[in-house]
Amino acid sequence: AAAAKPGVTNLAERRFHALGRGLELSYQEPLHLVRGEGVFLYTPDGTRYLDAYNNVPSVGHGNRKVAQAIARQMETLCTNTRYLHESIVDYAERLTATMPDGLDTCLFVNSGSEANDAAYRIAKIVTGKTGAIVMEHAYHGVTDVVAALSPYYGPFAQPLATFVQTLPSPDTGADPAEAARRAIAALQASGHGVAMLLIDSAFVSNGIVNVPEGWFAAVAEEVRKAGGLVVGDEVQSGFGRLGDEFWGFATHGVEPDLVTLGKPMANGHPTGAVVARRELLKTFTDKIDFFSTFGGNPVSAAAALATLEELQSRDLQGNARATGQKLREGIAVLNHPALGEVRGKGLMVGVQVNGNAALAKGIANAMRRNRVLIGTEGPQGNVLKIRPPLPFGAEHVEIFVEALRASLD
Ligand code: PMP
Repeated sequence: AAAAKPGVTNLAERRFHALGRGLELSYQEPLHLVRGEGVFLYTPDGTRYLDAYNNVPSVGHGNRKVAQAIARQMETLCTNTRYLHESIVDYAERLTATMPDGLDTCLFVNSGSEANDAAYRIAKIVTGKTGAIVMEHAYHGVTDVVAALSPYYGPFAQPLATFVQTLPSPDTGADPAEAARRAIAALQASGHGVAMLLIDSAFVSNGIVNVPEGWFAAVAEEVRKAGGLVVGDEVQSGFGRLGDEFWGFATHGVEPDLVTLGKPMANGHPTGAVVARRELLKTFTDKIDFFSTFGGNPVSAAAALATLEELQSRDLQGNARATGQKLREGIAVLNHPALGEVRGKGLMVGVQVNGNAALAKGIANAMRRNRVLIGTEGPQGNVLKIRPPLPFGAEHVEIFVEALRASLD
């Protein structure tokens, strides 16, 4: 049944046949990529695209140190965490050293979705409650329960499950403590109680909005008063991208009880984790024998170690801060009527488009024709999402701004 459709040679058509049409492709003219190097991507004919969109290869596409670490480990040994192995311990030590003291133990999985799924399980066991509070339009992943925690799915997620309550986006001006109290009261009224608050510190799916100082902390305080855990989803905001801090929660002055990691953690090798306060993970593992076959295997550990080493030795957090500033300034200087507020921190940039989702998509498609890759985001789909690999430098900002000028024209 999976045989190639006779006579179909075009790659897009073969893909539709083999994978179905439901798996969306980016851009009006889909892009066929065969190679990546640093912040550039290449098509089969060698055409070069500046990647201002992909946050997974945070230390650069085709990063040799990461690739070699993976290859070396793969030909040496790849087992699982039921055996003693140094590199997963080395990695857990180095990872937790970047976090506040209390966040000191790690549970390894294979994706951001799995990390959030595990965090919710931990929160339920620790608190004995089942309710969760997320942002309106939040996205946290694909497992059944995590999809229920992701109102981003819009019509697919409606009505929200009774164990989920949402908070209004920080840019609505709603009082955070009051909104949290309302969500908590609803969860208590429905008998679920509060197991956790789950928040992406970069507020990406809300449109990379500006967050008033103290907003997250005010919500976290109410949730803790109600006995819930605070979970920082650092899948987007972690590992230095936001520039000022290595972790997104730190930019909000919040110290979560659990932190979930994925995407950039191993530069594209599928790796995720929950970092937890020791007593919380203990309470969980006293009840549940949690074991992930691939989670924390020696190859994943080698990939994650090499990625962290690259991030730290090249000070890519510092680069994110400096280049992010230049990028925002360069966009603002265009002063184009189609563009509004330029938001975000470090190399997580959102640009409000003065228009609808179609206009934003039009700009992203024009950028693609001008050989720069960006995306769109936000509840209205009218925010340009710019989130390049972290080795993005001043010379790349120049290419980007020139392409944006041409695309807007
Ligand atoms: N959390 C956030 C904030 C995300 O953006 C994503 C992925 N876009 C996930 C979790 C899910 O990660 P994954 O796709 O690796 O399961």
